[in-house]
Amino acid sequence: MADMHTVTSEVPVDAVDRTALDEVVEFTSGLIRIDTTNRGGGDCRERPAAEYAAERLAAAGLEPVLLERTPGRTNVVARVEGADPTAEALLVHGHLDVVPAEAADWSADPFSGEVRDGVVWGRGAVDMKNTDAMVLAVVRAWARAGVKPRRDIVVAFTADEEDSAVDGSGFLADRHPHLFEGCTEGIGESGAFTVHTAPGRALYPIAAGERGTAWLKLTAHGTAGHGSKPNKANAVSRLAAAVARIGAHEWPVRLTGTVVACLTELAALQGLPVDPRAPGFDLDALLGRLGPAAALVEATVRNSANPTMLSAGYKLNVIPGQATAYVDGRTLPGGEAEFIATLDELTGPDVRWEFQHREIALEAPVDGRTYRILRESVEHFDPDAHVVPFCMAGGTDAKQFSRLGITGYGFSPLKLPPGFDYWSLFHGVDERVPVDALHFGVRVLDRALRTL
Ligand SMILES: [Zn+2]
Repeated sequence: MADMHTVTSEVPVDAVDRTALDEVVEFTSGLIRIDTTNRGGGDCRERPAAEYAAERLAAAGLEPVLLERTPGRTNVVARVEGADPTAEALLVHGHLDVVPAEAADWSADPFSGEVRDGVVWGRGAVDMKNTDAMVLAVVRAWARAGVKPRRDIVVAFTADEEDSAVDGSGFLADRHPHLFEGCTEGIGESGAFTVHTAPGRALYPIAAGERGTAWLKLTAHGTAGHGSKPNKANAVSRLAAAVARIGAHEWPVRLTGTVVACLTELAALQGLPVDPRAPGFDLDALLGRLGPAAALVEATVRNSANPTMLSAGYKLNVIPGQATAYVDGRTLPGGEAEFIATLDELTGPDVRWEFQHREIALEAPVDGRTYRILRESVEHFDPDAHVVPFCMAGGTDAKQFSRLGITGYGFSPLKLPPGFDYWSLFHGVDERVPVDALHFGVRVLDRALRTL
């Protein structure tokens, strides 16, 4: 508790000035105008965005380094010196690439970075050039004000998050671990944005976990032959049966620590005292009563496996000797062993399966100092905020950095007005962010990053 008192009484002076508020908008627009579309398979070029960020870090007196595994796929890393040399370092990371945008579907040019009626438009406005811009604006404000964060802060802007991370955080973790020396915790993508679940109720979910990735390839072998003849070893039938079993499987509920904490807080907000750990706890009944807030946990109460691609055959009257399918699987923290055993059972003896891509699940503590400071930083600037922890259904760069012993939180603060559906804008059409939301984010990040 002594620690708690020290922190609360040491609230830093607000370093955010008018310039920082202007710059976060300018940088969000500027980064959106640099097209860093990641089409997968190596088709992306982050270099101009990385140079844009590096120039702005250098102008603040930092010494950014540009790092590439593949030419054009550029990452930027810089270290901000902290006031306490004995403190462990903190990583703050954001990716520079974006998913593709079909301009014809949009109400604005997705790469214009246009600011219209107090809103910045374009691909990356929420995922996640906005956050990159906030981090740039914050560290430059520190330089102007001559203030230091408590801990050393390593700023990393990464390539390739929207594909495999092989040219981005994976490469940095494998080949440049020394740049992250001393980092024990990381602040990254997704979290601390407003989710309006009822009139007057603003939730701010902070990500304290991620499901793992288990992308699978299924292969069935059989006897090739004429389509008019009996065939007891038809690869297509074998594969189809396995895929149908996987699709129909009802995965058992497994509540992780983060999800239990989330459910408990959401229930308490609605005056429903529940103990998700108690015998006979009825999850479906609670989800039904939580309304829209149930979306924060629905995807993370169990493992999942969704068939997504099928391929077999080359002529209607020829039975092929082989058939393949792909399944998008996601595993809970601690859930991978059960996932593997279940897949063995569901695929059966006639279908082989293997990992096409495999990433671990993550879970971060929500009862310690770090989570508390993140929560307080949001509450400080939005006294009506209800901060709750949540587990992400998918994954981020935090998975790669976790290999360096870095515990990750998703924290990209934005205060959004009612009716603004942040989740639908993620990879969505007409991605945009209000200027006010960026200003809120800069203030919250400044406070959180300096206090942590
Ligand atoms: Zn993203």
